[in-house]
Amino acid sequence: MANIAGDAAKNRTYDAIVIGSGISGGWAAKELTGHGLKTLVLERGKDVKHIKDYPTTSKNPWEFEHRGQLPVEVKKQNPIVSKCYAFYEGTEHFFVKDAEHPYVQEKPFDWIRGYQVGGKSLLWARQTQRWSDFDFEGPARDGFAVDWPIRYADIAPWYSYVEKFAGISGNRDGVPQLPDGEFLPPHEMNCVESFFQKQVASKYKDRQVIMGRAAHITAPQPIHLEQGRAKCQHRTICERGCPFGGYFSSNASTIPWAARTGLMTLRPDSVVHSIIYDEQKGKATGVRVIDANTKEEMEFYANIIFVNAAALNTNLILLNSTSSRFPNGFGNDNGLMGKYVAFHNYKARISAEYDGHLDSTTDGRRPNSPYIPRFRNVYKQETDFLRGYAAGFSANRRSVTNQDGLGADLKQSLLNPSLGGWSVGSHMMGETIPKETNYVALDKSLKDPYGMPQLKISVVYDENDEKMTKDYLEQMTEMFTHAGFTNIQATNTDRAPGLDIHEMGGVRMGKDPKTSLLNKWNQLHACSNVFVTDGASMTSTSTQNPSLTYMALTARAADHAVQELKKRNI
Ligand SMILES: Cc1cc2nc3c(=O)[nH]c(=O)nc-3n(C[C@H](O)[C@H](O)[C@H](O)COP(=O)(O)OP(=O)(O)OC[C@H]3O[C@@H](n4cnc5c(N)ncnc54)[C@H](O)[C@@H]3O)c2cc1C
Repeated sequence: MANIAGDAAKNRTYDAIVIGSGISGGWAAKELTGHGLKTLVLERGKDVKHIKDYPTTSKNPWEFEHRGQLPVEVKKQNPIVSKCYAFYEGTEHFFVKDAEHPYVQEKPFDWIRGYQVGGKSLLWARQTQRWSDFDFEGPARDGFAVDWPIRYADIAPWYSYVEKFAGISGNRDGVPQLPDGEFLPPHEMNCVESFFQKQVASKYKDRQVIMGRAAHITAPQPIHLEQGRAKCQHRTICERGCPFGGYFSSNASTIPWAARTGLMTLRPDSVVHSIIYDEQKGKATGVRVIDANTKEEMEFYANIIFVNAAALNTNLILLNSTSSRFPNGFGNDNGLMGKYVAFHNYKARISAEYDGHLDSTTDGRRPNSPYIPRFRNVYKQETDFLRGYAAGFSANRRSVTNQDGLGADLKQSLLNPSLGGWSVGSHMMGETIPKETNYVALDKSLKDPYGMPQLKISVVYDENDEKMTKDYLEQMTEMFTHAGFTNIQATNTDRAPGLDIHEMGGVRMGKDPKTSLLNKWNQLHACSNVFVTDGASMTSTSTQNPSLTYMALTARAADHAVQELKKRNI
């Protein structure tokens, strides 16, 4: 690609380049600048400045033209992203619209994206459960995927490191498959959730209902106040951007922290096209970028490159980075890049009613809910499917409004709703098995509006997922029945993969360059100054939400990169 940028190359040379400013890229920027590296952060989307660029954060429902709902026309134009529960009138500006960023669904896959400074960190549900050795040792024990090159002990200090800065609330529950972390005070369960917790404990020795660990500041510590963040206000409209910085996002936390060093240059509207490889030097020397506004092509240079474009886009960029040394994609000597993509199985849900505790209710809102850690195949293989599932759980008391009458009577009844019974519900979060046949690749002919090849996604649920789904529905039905819940509705939604928004793999870590792309420090085996620390690097997927693990791996890899730079090894 020709470099037509007019400025001198030295003005476009940095110590480090970070591709993407979302959850993992924000951490890369913070750590690298924190170690004194002049760092360029390239972000394909628009800038989103904390508070200033949250246009709907303080809007009341009646201030939205459509009272928060999306017009049918918008839904028709966006059939994929409209399936995401968080896409509504208050958030549509933070989601990628289907037609603007096309991809090829070789098999149905709902790819949900947030292209802006902060990426999906503005939109996420903030569940931050640690992974354990049951996850990192899983592939070696169960014989799926390939052995992780790290164990829990390698990452545990880095979990602590990122948890303290991000601010994670939770209980110290002592569940081996869900290690405790550095927690701020937990959110509380309501009486029916505690009741279910006790009912489950009374029947099963190996099952727990706990409060989810979530990235919300429940008691600000000096490090949070220093970031300019304050206590979570329980507004539960987090995905519009929080002016209090009550939940963790790159925008409220890592990106401004990196900016404060004076060492970060943030370049929004910069679509990274590919990574430049210098054959003489035997390393990456920079990246090619397309300016999203002018479509101008330019190059930026650095000693190290962190690829944090979110799992599938990271695959896309690396596959698109070809040279005579890497004709099949950057670092793709074994041809495995793009393969072994996996995700989470969110197919099933269950709901029910409960007639007890009618003398109690809850008031206010809570930005979090209880969580049931994985209990299947933990210590031994006990079912006919591999791995297991975690589950979300929550209970709410319905409020019933009488809409009969007119005038003052109607107003009176609308303002004084009566309380109905309790509704309870749960959704599954299963681990899917990374398989060679679940892959992403570049489409040979179709291009996106920036001239990049479109990503072709070929990912499906399999028999293991179906068996797991069935088991979740059976086990939850049994647990709900034991608790005395009634009108149990167990549903296999049969939805396509993708909506879990936990896509992982394609550039997996491993011990052996023949069977993996990255080493234990997230460095490409074939080019040690390129680091991949987002979901693309995941060897397997665990049942727990993944983003906390991306943060910890990123901080760990950045520390290693700096040590290696100092030793002149990269
Ligand atoms: C509604 C919702 C709920 C979620 N809930 C949870 C949860 O509870 N817990 C959890 O762990 N995870 C959750 N997630 C997933 C979580 O948001 C992602 O795992 C996380 O954001 C991934 O971090 P990342 O840095 O890899 O990607 P992102 O945060 O998506 O950031 C990637 C960035 O790279 C940029 N980029 C992409 N391509 C290029 C390019 N070519 N050039 C330059 N920049 C590029 C993108 O614009 C984006 O800003 C949720 C996501 C959503 C949308």
